Amino acid sequence: AGRTRVTVVGSGNWGSVAAKLIASNTLRLPSFHDEVRMWVFEEILPSGEKLTDVINSTNENVKYLPGIKLGHNVVAIPDLENAVKDANMLVFVTPHQFVEGICKRLVGKVKEGVEAISLIKGMEVKMEGPCMISSLISEQLGINCCVLMGANIANEIAVEKFSEATVGYRENREIAEKWVTLFSTPYFMVSPVQDVEGVELCGTLKNVVAIAAGFVDGLEMGNNTKAAIMRIGLREMKAFSKLLFPSVKDTTFFESCGVADLITTCLGGRNRKVAEAFAKNGGKRSFDELEAEMLQGQKLQGVSTARELYEVLSHRGWLELFPLFATVHEICTGHLPPSAIVEYSEHKPNFS
Ligand code: NAD
Ligand code: 13P
Repeated sequence: AGRTRVTVVGSGNWGSVAAKLIASNTLRLPSFHDEVRMWVFEEILPSGEKLTDVINSTNENVKYLPGIKLGHNVVAIPDLENAVKDANMLVFVTPHQFVEGICKRLVGKVKEGVEAISLIKGMEVKMEGPCMISSLISEQLGINCCVLMGANIANEIAVEKFSEATVGYRENREIAEKWVTLFSTPYFMVSPVQDVEGVELCGTLKNVVAIAAGFVDGLEMGNNTKAAIMRIGLREMKAFSKLLFPSVKDTTFFESCGVADLITTCLGGRNRKVAEAFAKNGGKRSFDELEAEMLQGQKLQGVSTARELYEVLSHRGWLELFPLFATVHEICTGHLPPSAIVEYSEHKPNFS
């Protein structure tokens, strides 16, 4: 049968760290081929060099994860088809807005029986309603797709500080175990949970709560207010997940993908950071402008997720059930001031 080949589709901040984790394991585990291919959205650096050439010569992603060696068995590949063609396991890890385009280009190009996992926090909204990213991958490519989410700020894992993560799977426990083996290291502890929707919705929705937490920081409202926003946000995360997928389990919210990811992202994430700047500027500078200035090419997921969520909520008549989610979007679009994040109770929330 040969050894399993792994390709990472994406090479941003988290994508690069994922490649590093996986590459340390493929070297160690005899059932895997050593080489880990990493598809890189090619760009020309200010030096005039191609990003892929620099990654392959220095073994560092100098733009998205500077200062960290990825492992000599990570190979950066600019051609998407070429990157995936021999892979038995595909790891999707790009900003969520690019996934649909990537999947369109991959139709008919992946190996028969390939297994996929999505590390992507976000969703798409179609005419028929919301579509989780793992379902999009699964449906477009006709393949099985697990998810991996958790309290995982990439820069901290890059320097090998201890953290946990959750693999969500649908039916096949054996496949879930294989993903756990591929990702686990002494400093990265991964647990499987049979609740793919719950795990993915946790990762997706907490980015919206992190925007709210950033507003609170920007307005200097203190820790109690931020904790209140996190609690209310968690409650909305759980209520929304269960409305959308009644199969979602309560226990999932206590895994790394749930409350732990919510906490770390509200304390130290990029969504929080840029939302803080937005509120400090009184909403006068747009998120796009602040993202470009503050993140050096990295992408925020929370603002677009808030918009997508708002579409779903208004379409289903659920806006009043989710005042925090709705208010985040209204602040991001300038319809409400940042201070509205704690005034939304006037918008008739259900505080039960
Ligand atoms: P990132 O925020 O660093 O985004 C930059 C990446 O997007 C680069 O690789 C860039 O080449 C690519 N890109 C830009 N334009 C593109 C295009 N038109 N088509 C395709 N790719 C393009 O990415 P990331 O941090 O790796 O995040 C990927 C996913 O992982 C997101 O859903 C994020 O929520 C999630 N995540 C991130 C972290 C983290 O700490 N960074 C942690 C956990 C999960
Ligand atoms: P940010 O995108 O807000 O940095 O969150 C990263 C994350 O998902 C941590 O688990």
